[in-house]
Order: sequence, then C-alpha cells, then structure tokens
Amino acid sequence: MEVLARCPKCDAALPVEATGAPTTIKCGACGRELTLAFTDAVAADRRVDRCPVCGGADFYIRKDFDPKIGLTVVILGALISGAFYWFGRDLVAYGILAAAVLIDLVVYGRLKDVTVCYRCHSEFRGRYERTAQAFDLHTADVLELEYERRIGRR
Ligand SMILES: [Zn+2]
Ligand SMILES: [Zn+2]
Repeated sequence: MEVLARCPKCDAALPVEATGAPTTIKCGACGRELTLAFTDAVAADRRVDRCPVCGGADFYIRKDFDPKIGLTVVILGALISGAFYWFGRDLVAYGILAAAVLIDLVVYGRLKDVTVCYRCHSEFRGRYERTAQAFDLHTADVLELEYERRIGRR
C-alpha cells in the first residue's frame, strides 16, 4: 500500500511504502521526524484500520482525482476546437469540445477511491478493501480539532 503521510508540523505530503516495520521518516520540508507504525492489515494492503501517522481509526473515501489532468483535457479540447472554429467549421469545433468534456467524465468515473485520514489527512492507495464511508463534515470538524489540539497547533 502506498501511504501519503502528512507532516503534523507543516502539512507536507510524504510518500512512503507501507511495510510491516515501524519506520522513521524525516520531513523534507521542515525536518521533523515522523515515526510511522503500520498495522498488519495496512502493511499487507488488506485494509486501512489505523493511521500510521496519528494512530486514528476514522477515515473517509474520496475519488482519487487529479484536477490537473482533467483541466489539461478540457484546455486541449478548447484549443483544438478553437482552431476548427477559426476555419469556419463550427460543428466540428463544438463536437471536439463536447468530446473533451465527455473524456473528462469518463476519466472521473474510472478513478479509484482513495482513503483519507480524518485527523491528519494522510492518504492511502492500494488494492485493499474500501471500508470507509464518504466524507462527513461534522466528523471532520470534531476529529481535526481533536488532532490539532493534540499536536499543539491550536
Ligand atoms: Zn514538515
Ligand atoms: Zn492520521
């Protein structure tokens, strides 16, 4: 399982491969050392049961969407259709624009789910079974506050 650990101090995203052993990584941005304790289920890519960064057991699921890719497709489509429009082929132009939006939708629909830790926002990617629920704002408010108090940010 791929884990994107969030530094508790500066929020930098630190990619780590989940192994069984506890690992200590150093944040490249602020130099803080993080000790990651992976559970057996996380190390074996079975399930996300406990966050290796903050020890929390509350997660939500969201689409693993990279807005940059979607935007590139739409911009490319707009550029190409703009060229056709310029040469007076409006129908082709609109068709290409529509196709770009469609490709975007297809890409979005095929995206995999990523599990995110409510407290520290670490992300988990892999073949594991998705057991977390969709994002809940109330839960996020409560848990984020608790975590930030614990690490002394508030
Ligand atoms: Zn940091
Ligand atoms: Zn966490």
